[in-house]
Amino acid sequence: MNAAADPLARGWCPGILRPMESGDGLLARLHPPHGVLSPEQALAVSEASRACGNGVLDITGHANLQIRGVREATRAELEARLGRVGLVEPSPRAPFRVTVISPIADLVSDGGLDGRALADTVERAARKVELPAKFLVAIDCDDRFPLDHLAPDIRVRTAATGHLLIGLARQNGVVWGAPVSPAAFEETIGALLERLGRLLRANNVRRVRLLPHTELEPFVDQGQPGPATRSGHPPRAGLVPLGTARFAAIAAAPFGQITADMLAAAADVAQEAGLPELRLAPNRGLVLAPLAPEKASTALHGLAACGLVNDPADPRLRIVTCPGAPACASGHAETHDLAARLARHLPARPWPASVHLSGCRKGCVRRGASDLTLVAGETGVDIIPDGGPFDAPVAQADFDVIVQHLEGADGAADFAHQITGGRAPRCATTT
Ligand code: SF4
Repeated sequence: MNAAADPLARGWCPGILRPMESGDGLLARLHPPHGVLSPEQALAVSEASRACGNGVLDITGHANLQIRGVREATRAELEARLGRVGLVEPSPRAPFRVTVISPIADLVSDGGLDGRALADTVERAARKVELPAKFLVAIDCDDRFPLDHLAPDIRVRTAATGHLLIGLARQNGVVWGAPVSPAAFEETIGALLERLGRLLRANNVRRVRLLPHTELEPFVDQGQPGPATRSGHPPRAGLVPLGTARFAAIAAAPFGQITADMLAAAADVAQEAGLPELRLAPNRGLVLAPLAPEKASTALHGLAACGLVNDPADPRLRIVTCPGAPACASGHAETHDLAARLARHLPARPWPASVHLSGCRKGCVRRGASDLTLVAGETGVDIIPDGGPFDAPVAQADFDVIVQHLEGADGAADFAHQITGGRAPRCATTT
């Protein structure tokens, strides 16, 4: 993928008014407020995807929706269709939405803070200042759906006192400021965004973690221990209790993608459950909530009937993959087809709990380590047990050979031993 076609290498984000070139046509990204669509909007997106794109949509890790395969000839119609349901951004200039929240952040009880209200406060403040296109604020105040997997510029958490903690991204973690009362949050976040926008421009960098440490004084001077560490990942599939006899039905998009038909069917499920919203999850799924107990299981099965993954034990949830070929011009393999095959052969044993199948060495969807990383190349698939796409592979093999050895492997070392035939791993240069 050349720089002009690589979303990660570019300093801008696609929207509806300014889609991005991709291997399968133009990619138009929707940024619905709070990551929420009404069933009517979801149906309109589904129809627009069929009429103006190739009928394939991505649910992104920031709870956005991407319409793939749009053509120059259908751009105007796409804008018109989405404009009729209020889903076109007011200007082609990003950032369109700087916040990411839990998909159930508004369904609070016991005096908890409403994540949507906090997000609205941040969005209001962000509109008054100039921020880079990819600037991100995680409103991470809902322990039922933690957002630790995201790498935002700013993280907002709740302190035990009911105050808010604001953390700034650093290269090796987060530095936390002093607790802020909910009443003072708007003024504090407004001042911080204004200052960060100025510093990012002055230092010619796009992410807060790249700012020199000294630039963040006096915020750093007030550094606090930060909130308690949480364990676990946000739920990807199943029923999540919300308290007061309500549930959220959560289902994952297989490998992050759905079809227009799946989206339309999910909108029908939401309507049948009497819900006004379809919630996009920032771990590439859909959420229906709040649901009474007698409707919750029906809704979850309904999402499965649409083709989404509703079982937390489904092996597809152990695999992450990028669009790959033909959606991405740099892809050396059709990653979604391979991932589906891989899922059918993943052993029930604990290893590998996480597999990253990458269409090329760029590793767009996960830069860090997985139990097993497979990187498609021109001459075969690089195999990296217990590592990430930038680590040295132990071997390169045909995909069928990998699948065959995977079924019998008992852990990373055993797999590496089998795949290399007991030889020392081959040396490889990595960047
Ligand atoms: S990792 Fe996947 S999406 Fe990223 S450039 Fe390579 S093939 Fe394309």
